[in-house]
Amino acid sequence: MHVFKFGGASVKDAEAVKNVAEILKKSATKETIVVISAMGKTTNGLEELVKAFFNKTGGAESVLQKIRTYHFDIVKDLFPNKNHPVYNEIENSFVEINWIIEDEPLPDYNQVYDQIVSMGEIISTKIIAAYLTGKSLKNKWLDVRGVIQTDNTYREGKVNYELSEQCVKSELIPLFKENKIVVTQGFIGGTSENFTTTLGREGSDYTAALLAYFTDAESVTIWKDVPGVLNADPKWFKNTKKIDELTYHDAIEFTYYGATVIHPKTIKPLQNKNIPLYVKSFLKSDDTGTLIQGTEKRFSMPSYIFKINQLLISIQPKDFSFIGEGNLSMIFSLFDKYACKIHLMQNSAISFSVCIDEEGEKTDRLIQDLQSEFKVLYNSGLELLTIRNYDQETIEKLIENKSILMEQRSRNTVQMVLSNN
Ligand code: ASP
Ligand code: MG
Repeated sequence: MHVFKFGGASVKDAEAVKNVAEILKKSATKETIVVISAMGKTTNGLEELVKAFFNKTGGAESVLQKIRTYHFDIVKDLFPNKNHPVYNEIENSFVEINWIIEDEPLPDYNQVYDQIVSMGEIISTKIIAAYLTGKSLKNKWLDVRGVIQTDNTYREGKVNYELSEQCVKSELIPLFKENKIVVTQGFIGGTSENFTTTLGREGSDYTAALLAYFTDAESVTIWKDVPGVLNADPKWFKNTKKIDELTYHDAIEFTYYGATVIHPKTIKPLQNKNIPLYVKSFLKSDDTGTLIQGTEKRFSMPSYIFKINQLLISIQPKDFSFIGEGNLSMIFSLFDKYACKIHLMQNSAISFSVCIDEEGEKTDRLIQDLQSEFKVLYNSGLELLTIRNYDQETIEKLIENKSILMEQRSRNTVQMVLSNN
């Protein structure tokens, strides 16, 4: 068994879908589970729809109309025959969304979110499965919500491994008796009461890893718009280099420090069963890409991870007392309450400083809560630069014209919170 994952960019228009079919023709030589995300930026669009509908700010219909037109433009290009059943099928999915937004929203925002946002993946997989069939790539479409079983933590469903494994054995594996390809959705799951959940933004990689884990797959391939894992994000750095091989350990560290090339939860299931992960380009599918596996070899190439919109918060007891364990445990529980991930922290006698993502309302509320107990100072619009396998010369080049507000160094890694002067 092989598992392939195609993200939003790889299916963003009709040409891209045609390219996916070409890749499958060439590369799906064995039984293959094909995990697909919503097309292009659909998930963002659906998030906008949820906001407008739930907050009753108006405009939900027009947002939905835009998403509908985008998909039907792709469908029209892929299926010139207007009588093809896919037209009806996709129309029905949009009718389903329409029904949801004609009703009063359920009281829980996150549940509404999952109900609506999950439709992006349902629609994309229906279109692509039908297209592959038309190209003689016999396949079966599977609703992954009956397989990936989660609890009801909406937007961040916790996967029940035991139940999901059973469902994979009973619902997914038998499909391979008559098909070499099974097409299914990334990112979404279902509860035991048949409610839809999602696994967290960009979660399709994680779905691919889970399905590989449950089927003891030989490998997972994530098809991306970059040649593999690079030593820096080309959005921020010139002259990036592809990393040919990475250990699971290095890959986890990469994602931990904020590299977005693979979802942070992807590695664990693969590491647990020693399943290799390939990251390859869907534009140059014959190139080797990056191989992530359980070797001893640590990589030594300098690599750079850059995050913007950082907030540096400095927290001090109001009465000038020391920062002690009691204070720290209260501070950490607030970060936990708001699910704010701490990227970097440092404490001194009377203050504790942390660097986190600036996330609008969520961080505002965190700061308000902190302010009821502590004196809080903060600095926004900052950057966080992490360099692994650093040398002093590159550091100096990268921080030219910037001031360092906080810094931490270990033998291999340096992290700096920077502001632009
Ligand atoms: N479509 C979802 C998102 O954009 C999941 C994914 O792409 O992995 O977050
Ligand atoms: Mg995506």
